[in-house]
Amino acid sequence: MKVFDSLHAFIWQDHSANNCNTYLIDADKKILIDPGHLHLFSPIERELKKLKITPDQIDVVIATHGHPDHLEAAGKFKKPTLFAMNQEEHALISELAAAYFKVPEADFFLTEGDLTIGKLDFQVLVTPGHSPGSICLYWPDRKVLFTGDVVFNQSIGRTDLPGGSSGDLKKSIIRLSKLDVEYLLTGHGEMVTGREKVQENFHMIQDYWFNYL
Ligand SMILES: [Zn+2]
Repeated sequence: MKVFDSLHAFIWQDHSANNCNTYLIDADKKILIDPGHLHLFSPIERELKKLKITPDQIDVVIATHGHPDHLEAAGKFKKPTLFAMNQEEHALISELAAAYFKVPEADFFLTEGDLTIGKLDFQVLVTPGHSPGSICLYWPDRKVLFTGDVVFNQSIGRTDLPGGSSGDLKKSIIRLSKLDVEYLLTGHGEMVTGREKVQENFHMIQDYWFNYL
């Protein structure tokens, strides 16, 4: 679905398979965020095709973190498409996933701070907790925040996977709650749109879920 002119959300609706939401920024550069599982990539290809985009036209693939339900299909892309994720996360998942799937080489690493791709300016926030090198991508001009599995609509990421930390997750969520966000684009489930709804979501999470962290 189109979120706005240069942003599309492919929300994963099939609950029989664990796969993530994938997002496409279609501006002067085409950026695909969290391509998902490899064997579940065909719905994304179909959605791209509807937009008259082929995978080889994607300029950059970004993984918010290393879990295969977000990252695995990144292996499908070839040069000149670039692949980026956090370095610590890349090292961890390369080790953990060695027997299961090949983590693609990163063309550049996502570190805390500003990131410019073409004419688009982002901020990368390193937000550990769900996984140690999880990043969130903030697009200030459009007040968009891609959260991966840090926060969801009325929920939070699990912390029981390798490198997870409930204390870190709490700190990461508090950081995110201070950003000016109109579109909270989550790694699973429905996204949250509208500044008030986004704030309500953070309040709900802090009031309810923080009791469990
Ligand atoms: Zn995850």
